[in-house]
Amino acid sequence: MSTPVADLPALAAQAGRDLETASAQEVLRWAVIAFGERFVIASSMGDGLLAHLASTVAPGVDVLFLDTGYHFAETLGTRDAVAQVYDVQVRTVLPLLTVAQQDARYGERLHERDPDACCALRKVEPLVRGLAPYTAWASGIRRDEASTRRDIGVVEWDAKRSMVKVNPIATWTAADVDAYVAEHGVLVNPLAFDGYPSIGCAPCTRRVAPGEDPRSGRWAGSGKTECGLHV
Ligand code: SF4
Repeated sequence: MSTPVADLPALAAQAGRDLETASAQEVLRWAVIAFGERFVIASSMGDGLLAHLASTVAPGVDVLFLDTGYHFAETLGTRDAVAQVYDVQVRTVLPLLTVAQQDARYGERLHERDPDACCALRKVEPLVRGLAPYTAWASGIRRDEASTRRDIGVVEWDAKRSMVKVNPIATWTAADVDAYVAEHGVLVNPLAFDGYPSIGCAPCTRRVAPGEDPRSGRWAGSGKTECGLHV
């Protein structure tokens, strides 16, 4: 029997405390047992780490990818490779408007003039729609990536979407990621080896210099640091 919606915030808070020191696999196993097919992984295809991890715990698990229409070809290629190689079901969600339709309605290069509006149209709304069939979702965000992510729980309540949010690698460091990728030969977006440690839409992502904050290449110079998916 599934947990009543009213009880989910408490369930998430308790699991966050109980699983704080658990391995990523244990966190994922808890989510799969608790939510079954109503649990989905979200991936931006910077790499296939979370998809690989989840496939070892729950073969065939759904992986949600938001195709904003502005992705690098390498990101779409990584999505296709993950779908081919790992035992997961990749589900691509598109915005309601194509880029051409958005340009016609709001003017060209909305991402330059109002990136929050562009992200709302091309990321935030599609994620809400893509997550609608599920009760819990997982992302690959980590506490050490940004000050805005320092307090994320391993499991937490996503009040904005009224869902349980699972962050299995919240406590990992960049070195932990590198070690897992090397050990398991995880698929990685080729741009990661070309100066892009954090990869978003092409117009809003630039290369970063060695030693620079890995996320400083996202919306560089605009003051924006998050697309609205994880805050
Ligand atoms: Fe638009 Fe840039 Fe946000 Fe992508 S990251 S949705 S191009 S503002």
